[in-house]
Amino acid sequence: MAYNILSVDDSQTVRAVIRKTLDLAGIEVGEIHEAGNGQEALDVLGKHWLDLVFADINMPVMTGLELVDRMSADGLLKTVPVVIVSTEGSSTRVEQLKAKGVSAYVRKPFTPEIIRSVVEEVLGGRQHEA
Ligand SMILES: [Mg+2]
Repeated sequence: MAYNILSVDDSQTVRAVIRKTLDLAGIEVGEIHEAGNGQEALDVLGKHWLDLVFADINMPVMTGLELVDRMSADGLLKTVPVVIVSTEGSSTRVEQLKAKGVSAYVRKPFTPEIIRSVVEEVLGGRQHEA
């Protein structure tokens, strides 16, 4: 089963690295969409059905945290898992993110192994339910 993925980061380089890392991790990707901030991400989410969102925290216009809040408040979007990818990794921050409903947290820089285990953890169960 191929997953449709949205990668949200204000750095085009990081978005490219996520794309490459998903490939290296052997994750079967269907569509991959990119957004430069939370608002662009909401626009993409309004137009496409996505299985998983990777989101940075610090971005102009709309941060990853506001994106998570907006998704949580939406009946449909709240079912789409979000993995936060950030350099901000204090345990307090990670606890706050979990409380907001974030599915997983990945610290930059990340490896294909980390990405694979996170995707399996977040989406693995769904694959068998289908
Ligand atoms: Mg950033």
